[in-house]
Amino acid sequence: MDISTRAKLNNGTKIPMLGLGTWELTGNTEEAVLNALKLGYRHVDTAMVYGNEKEIGQAIRKSGIPRKELFITTKLWNNDHSNPAMAFNDSLRRLGLDYVDLYLIHWPVPQRNRSWKELDKFQKDGRAKAIGVSNFTIRHLKQLLEESNVVPAVNQVEFSTFLYQKELLEFCKSNGIQLEAYSPLARANKFDNPALIRIARNHGKSPAQVMIRWVLQHGVVAIPKSGNKQRQRQNADVFGFELSAGDMKALDALDEGFRCCPDPSQMP
Ligand code: NAP
Repeated sequence: MDISTRAKLNNGTKIPMLGLGTWELTGNTEEAVLNALKLGYRHVDTAMVYGNEKEIGQAIRKSGIPRKELFITTKLWNNDHSNPAMAFNDSLRRLGLDYVDLYLIHWPVPQRNRSWKELDKFQKDGRAKAIGVSNFTIRHLKQLLEESNVVPAVNQVEFSTFLYQKELLEFCKSNGIQLEAYSPLARANKFDNPALIRIARNHGKSPAQVMIRWVLQHGVVAIPKSGNKQRQRQNADVFGFELSAGDMKALDALDEGFRCCPDPSQMP
């Protein structure tokens, strides 16, 4: 596994296992994304609601990297379910792209299954290479699968050593849905955990690197965010070591249901 390693999605599209998160990239978003692309990142995660699609599009063009080598995700925000086609067009326009690699329903709002049919149209006309969902629980996924035979390629959820969503991971695996971990670093809230520090020391790595590696070894895509070049480099330097079965077990046990974002299980 290295930074170019991709997982095959259920429609044949391939997603890089490591991507750059871009929520709250402060300062110069364009420069931060450009730095990451220079470091070898090829996968960038954005959303309409992050307000940075335009800058990300600029970074993509400035990088000179062929479009087909990149994997760009954006998302349909909650207020836009009355007209997903317009929201999708607007995202493409802001990004300056004629397609995205992945388009996600950002949050399981009540209109989600109706909008899913719209997303399928974007996939069929080639403007979204793959479509998926975000923040869906097993219950939301089951409801969607009952109503549609288009299985989401991805479910992007909060997932970290401190929020090990084992049942959801197993459900997604058994239904051909790639799980993708957001806030894989628990937003830097837990780097002082003694067990995490011990494992990191044993490998000569940082707690952040161990947290990312744990996600990847579970077969889950990770999209850590950093606007800082050194930390972007550090977060991408997770392919030269391997956590043992014992390390994985100890890290699995750190789960404490810790969330940085709202719990979507409250959504009907
Ligand atoms: P995260 O990636 O877990 O953590 C980001 C925080 O950790 C930032 O404050 C960053 O600061 C810091 N950091 C990064 N690398 C570090 C390192 N090596 N050492 C120390 N600190 C480090 O949290 P996140 O941004 O919430 O999640 C990642 C991405 O997932 C988001 O950016 C977004 O793209 C996506 N996301 C999606 C949803 C959804 O609903 N679908 C929700 C939340 C997030 P610096 O920037 O200063 O390095």
